[in-house]
Amino acid sequence: MKNHRESPIEINSSEFKTLGYELIDRIAEFIAEIPQKAVSPVEDVESLRSLIKTPSLPQNGTAAKEVIEKAANLLFNHSLLNGHPKFFGYITSSAAPMGALADLLASSVNPNVGAHILSPIATEIEKQTIQWLCDFIGVKRSYGGLLVSGGNMANFTGFLAARLEKAPQEFKSLGIEACKRKMIVYCPKTTHTWIEKAVTLFGHGSDSVRWIPVDAKSKMDTSILQSTIENDLHAYHLPFMVIGTAGDVSTGAVDDLNEIAKICEDYKLWFHVDGAYGAPAAIVPNCKSLFIGMEKADSIALDPHKWLYSPLEAGCTLVKNPQHLINTFSSHPEYYHFNKEGEANIQNFYEYGLQNSRGFRALKVWMALQQVGREGYVKMISEDMELSRHMYHLAETMDQFEAISQNLSICTFRYVPDGIESVANKNDFLNNLNETLLSRIEKGGQLFMSNAIIEGRYCLRACIVNFRTSKQDIEEVMETVRKTGTQVHQELLKN
Ligand SMILES: *Cc1c(COP(=O)(O)O)cnc(C)c1O
Repeated sequence: MKNHRESPIEINSSEFKTLGYELIDRIAEFIAEIPQKAVSPVEDVESLRSLIKTPSLPQNGTAAKEVIEKAANLLFNHSLLNGHPKFFGYITSSAAPMGALADLLASSVNPNVGAHILSPIATEIEKQTIQWLCDFIGVKRSYGGLLVSGGNMANFTGFLAARLEKAPQEFKSLGIEACKRKMIVYCPKTTHTWIEKAVTLFGHGSDSVRWIPVDAKSKMDTSILQSTIENDLHAYHLPFMVIGTAGDVSTGAVDDLNEIAKICEDYKLWFHVDGAYGAPAAIVPNCKSLFIGMEKADSIALDPHKWLYSPLEAGCTLVKNPQHLINTFSSHPEYYHFNKEGEANIQNFYEYGLQNSRGFRALKVWMALQQVGREGYVKMISEDMELSRHMYHLAETMDQFEAISQNLSICTFRYVPDGIESVANKNDFLNNLNETLLSRIEKGGQLFMSNAIIEGRYCLRACIVNFRTSKQDIEEVMETVRKTGTQVHQELLKN
């Protein structure tokens, strides 16, 4: 006699083993074969849709084995492979295989890391992960924080803590109406779009952002920052927050964080560092000086799913005084029988951020930090930067390239054919050529880059957050780009 319920969603232990081992075998082969595959399958969207066309919600179930095989085939054969050694687009890293195993483990146990009582060991592991991330980037362990889905959410979390701290007292009850003076936030022109989302979503409006110009090295001009704050004070506005960037999305530039910290101190403003991409480079001894001042930040955003090579999704917010997170996000509904923060030294992560129920993102970060250790990360991040410098060097020395910028692990350059000097509207011509070239590269499937616009120049941009890339890959990539550039140029001349 069965004493348990038959559920169509259950997979019994022996079947789980069979299916699971098979899937693991296929995943292992997939990962091993990535370098031989095209970076992207380059299929049109109609043929993709035809692969999964099922007219309506399935009426009845299908055997688990069949479902798994179908999903695996679709994903292995029709995905862009950001784990490919020649993938350098946007800021998306190769994913640590440990992360795949950690995610499987996390979702098998399925702790809800919103409350300690629902996730006893998972909460403690997330707390330790936060401390290790403080050690990693070189800020005091008294910072607190939490893992979130990515950089946008990490920055939003810092933004919301900043604004509650700096808004008038009645902000929680009156909302934005409590602000007789317009609250103003300052950031370099290079800041990621999250700030636009934040000010529109959270009720401040896009007029509340002061986009501060950057200098020739793409760093925020701090004297303009200071004069802009002065102007706003004279206009009876309420400056509340300055964002410094530690690794801007386009060129990898790091602002003068120490100078920004001083200005924030002078004017009593919240100092937020967006280090979503770049902050982890602070672990590399000879990069430390670039990040001086980060240790004074009131809040910091960083993305383990970028330079810590965690699979998506994993972002992190660190806050100098974690009480600011509790002030901002904590509430105590009557239907929660949880210890309140501070009681019995218990931490409930739902009181630290926007989410209530929370998955166990910390596990993949925590496990990779142990697998690799400080030395391992120093090695991988240094090598990524070294490869980026090598690419820049090739752009400088090879014919038909113009090297534009190199910071952290981001290199920008453009293809410049011979005999270009006599062309009218040279820059427009080159912009069109390089934009067409980038589309052609994407369609070729051999490598993947993205673009940056630097002082009106359309550049090819490679961001190496990829522990699989070798020096030879970089050399092959530059050859491919040059060959493709020559083709595209000749086609443009014919038209
Ligand atoms: C990537 C990035 C973001 C956005 O992060 P997501 O994880 O994509 O949400 C924000 N700021 C900077 C500097 C980034 O590099």
